[in-house]
Amino acid sequence: MQLGPAVAQTGAPPNAIGPDEALKRLVDGNARYAANTAANKDFSAGRAARAESQHPFAAIVSCADSRVAPELAFDQGPGELFVVRVAGNFVNTDGLASLEYGVKFLGIPLVMVLGHTNCGAVDATIKVLKDNAELPGHLPELVNSIKPAVEAAKKAGSDDLLNRAIIENVRHNVAELNKAEPIVSRLVSDGKVKVVGGLYDLATGKVELV
Ligand SMILES: [Zn+2]
Repeated sequence: MQLGPAVAQTGAPPNAIGPDEALKRLVDGNARYAANTAANKDFSAGRAARAESQHPFAAIVSCADSRVAPELAFDQGPGELFVVRVAGNFVNTDGLASLEYGVKFLGIPLVMVLGHTNCGAVDATIKVLKDNAELPGHLPELVNSIKPAVEAAKKAGSDDLLNRAIIENVRHNVAELNKAEPIVSRLVSDGKVKVVGGLYDLATGKVELV
């Protein structure tokens, strides 16, 4: 990775846009994807320029689920999205460090925490908490990270605990990022970066802001 501001020698970098414009690009790209009219198909275009530097316009915190593919879901080519993936799309210290690099050194104006329907990681957390079950290996750490969202969903008393917990998990991580010191919170309060939440519907391919 290149450390230091990745600014082109002449003029502004291509990702020098505001957070709202970045969000519009994601929303428009998702509409193309959901309609099966994706525009990004030429993956060799721009490869030589990308070898020199990267200027992604959005960072996505996505689940590791194989059915959620951010570049496809937002119809973006290589170099456009800076993606951090972990089952359950939560932000731990390493994920935060990646995002800090993205917003501070790459100049990314938008971060989206992207949950999805029928998330196995959230579902497993609900089951573990319900049955007091013990999971093998390092899975308990994953459950601990998702637990606050499940507890918030239970408190809200929803009929659909899984769906509610998935949304609470997105909102919880958006809130955590907004107050993540010292880098993200500062850029957010300066209006240079926005953090938003999205929910990807596995059945339709559509992303709804939550
Ligand atoms: Zn998932």
